[in-house]
Amino acid sequence: MPDRLKSAIRDIPDFPKPGILFKDISPILSDPELLQHSIDLLLETAHLDRQKIDKVVGIDARGFIFAAPIALALKAGFVPVRKAGKLPWKTFSESYTLEYGENTVEIHQDAIQPGDKVLLIDDLLATGGTAAAAVKLINRLGADLVRVSFLIELADLKGTEKIDAPVTSIISY
Ligand code: AMP
Repeated sequence: MPDRLKSAIRDIPDFPKPGILFKDISPILSDPELLQHSIDLLLETAHLDRQKIDKVVGIDARGFIFAAPIALALKAGFVPVRKAGKLPWKTFSESYTLEYGENTVEIHQDAIQPGDKVLLIDDLLATGGTAAAAVKLINRLGADLVRVSFLIELADLKGTEKIDAPVTSIISY
């Protein structure tokens, strides 16, 4: 029932900047049934490929909320992709352009082994810049990216076109 999830998502106009319609997932997270349901649906996407996932990568910060329980359910490890300057060990970085300015994400160099099967998770796909940067980091570590799954996709922004891997989203706008 993605519809139950969809009706719980709250639209916040002009946050964090004028012109952005922010999809607030807080009402899903604070409801135990909806939280469980969102994780169950994302977990199903991990089974589409019938491959044993070694690492679930979550994107800073809301991606972590979903990626960690999915990693536990798959008996896989959890790996964070973080905003620049947050990871303490040796990192690889990828920068990408936003509407205004630039953003950088990082991963620990030893977080994933070459050949590891990886599932990448984030809460929301908009332009795809963030996920595409995370995909580059995963590929740079020699991993096998099996799938990229999102709770929400803003389909008009065509973010999937930037992602060179199978993409699934539970809720589409
Ligand atoms: P993008 O790189 O444009 O695909 O943006 C994706 C990242 O920004 C995700 O980590 C989202 O959490 C966040 N994001 C972008 N647009 C929105 C939005 N309208 N509502 C909520 N989060 C968003």
